[in-house]
Amino acid sequence: MQDPRSFFASTTNEIIIPTSTTDIHSVITRWSDERLQQPAIIVIPSTREDIIAAIQYARQKNLTILAGAGGHKVVPVNDKTLYLDLRKFKKIEVNREKATVEIGGAVTNLELMTELLKDGFYTTYANSGAVSMAGLVLGGGFCGALSSIHGLAIDNVVAFEGVTASGEVIKVDQSASDPKHKALFDILCGAGYGLLVITSHSMKIHKLSALNLDDTDKLWVRKYTFPGKVIGEVVDFFQKLLPVKPKLMPLILCVRAPPNAPFPGAPVIILSITYYGPSSEASKIVDPIVASTDIEKFAIASETTLAPFTSIFDGSKMIDAHGGFKAQHMSRAHSFSTSTIVSAFNRWKQLGEEVPDARAFSVFLVWGYNPTATIENGLVNDKRPFIGRDRSMFGNAITWYNKPESKAAVEKYATDISEILQQDDSRQGYPGATLPNNFRDNSKVHLGYTDDMLVDIRRVHAVWNPDSLFYNVLEDSGT
Ligand SMILES: Cc1cc2nc3c(=O)[nH]c(=O)nc-3n(C[C@H](O)[C@H](O)[C@H](O)COP(=O)(O)OP(=O)(O)OC[C@H]3O[C@@H](n4cnc5c(N)ncnc54)[C@H](O)[C@@H]3O)c2cc1C
Repeated sequence: MQDPRSFFASTTNEIIIPTSTTDIHSVITRWSDERLQQPAIIVIPSTREDIIAAIQYARQKNLTILAGAGGHKVVPVNDKTLYLDLRKFKKIEVNREKATVEIGGAVTNLELMTELLKDGFYTTYANSGAVSMAGLVLGGGFCGALSSIHGLAIDNVVAFEGVTASGEVIKVDQSASDPKHKALFDILCGAGYGLLVITSHSMKIHKLSALNLDDTDKLWVRKYTFPGKVIGEVVDFFQKLLPVKPKLMPLILCVRAPPNAPFPGAPVIILSITYYGPSSEASKIVDPIVASTDIEKFAIASETTLAPFTSIFDGSKMIDAHGGFKAQHMSRAHSFSTSTIVSAFNRWKQLGEEVPDARAFSVFLVWGYNPTATIENGLVNDKRPFIGRDRSMFGNAITWYNKPESKAAVEKYATDISEILQQDDSRQGYPGATLPNNFRDNSKVHLGYTDDMLVDIRRVHAVWNPDSLFYNVLEDSGT
């Protein structure tokens, strides 16, 4: 069997063969160290032909191909992995007439936003600029208040182009006449990991001017900071902002005070309310609610600013850092009662007390949005697998620790807080739900898709990735 260097010599692939002394972080860019080991080989293609060569090599060597773009998902990399680093697929091509953009397989949210804003456009973005657009849409793509205007990221996708596991270059779009291609398109929108190496995909774009923002690009942001002891009062106020008006994004973020704060490590609650429209509208919605309560009296600090559109990624900058064992544990619900949010907050606080290694950066968030557009899009895009389009509430425990021995306690916390956050829906007979974008293995698949969806998803995977050459989360038991 050929050695890798001579195998790839006739291609434009770069290859890296890590050894036991290679620092994994210097060769793979990755958000979390969970499930991260040395791969058999890293292949960095420049062209589709390079990708086809990588597929042939992986077949010869019995390796699993894992495509990598933003590196923000917890997916397994080990000595059976051919890590296909798509970093060179950075095309961004705007079509103003059709109001679409073609996005290379590794383009990040921030790169796309920066480019689109030059033409006065935007699309549906994650809350992290470092996440790739391809990775975002493959698991659905919830986009905060932008989803209250344009639905999910998958609702805005019009076509995918890429290389199949059999080495065929294909393009599939929403109006594909071949039922096999149409089914592939639909499943790529929401359950698409491991079906295609996406070299580019196209999305709808929207005019920023239509949002009617102050100074053309400024979002209205009200921010209050509270000590942890007033969690009940903060949640009572938050509930008054529900059901959330379109374009509004109220969010509770629970963090630990930084080392230079008067009480380092103390629980702090940041309540932010962002409005994706003119400040006059925002004030009309928020100010009367504030005036009808005592909320300002409990705040340590408060400010109202006009923040540039690009600031939507600022909130997650701290959590974007690479390294450490990190994961997201998200619960999507119809409602959270005040006592549920307070119980979840107390469980988060307890984690910091019991596991000092996880205290500084494990954060807990709760937010709501208006799901009308997401629900309406679902009536049209009914084959794109995404459950619970009517669930307007999100709770997310982001865990971050550094010592392997903290794992058991952190996992217990993740289970507990997820159960707490699902208890109100569960009492009303609703099953739990999460975001497929946060799957770490197949243990939560039933929280991302219905049984009927899973039948369709598995059928499409059996056609396009029959021998699991591409890493497939549905087959990943996490062991
Ligand atoms: C801080 C943070 C914030 C986030 N915010 C949001 C959010 O607001 N909304 C939301 O819905 N999700 C969010 N996510 C989840 C995120 O969208 C997913 O984890 C996404 O899959 C990450 O994509 P990536 O390319 O960055 O990661 P990677 O680990 O590089 O890729 C993730 C998966 O997608 C596959 N993949 C990526 N690119 C390609 C491609 N071109 N072709 C084929 N397969 C590909 C990979 O093989 C892998 O299975 C967030 C995650 C983090 C860590």
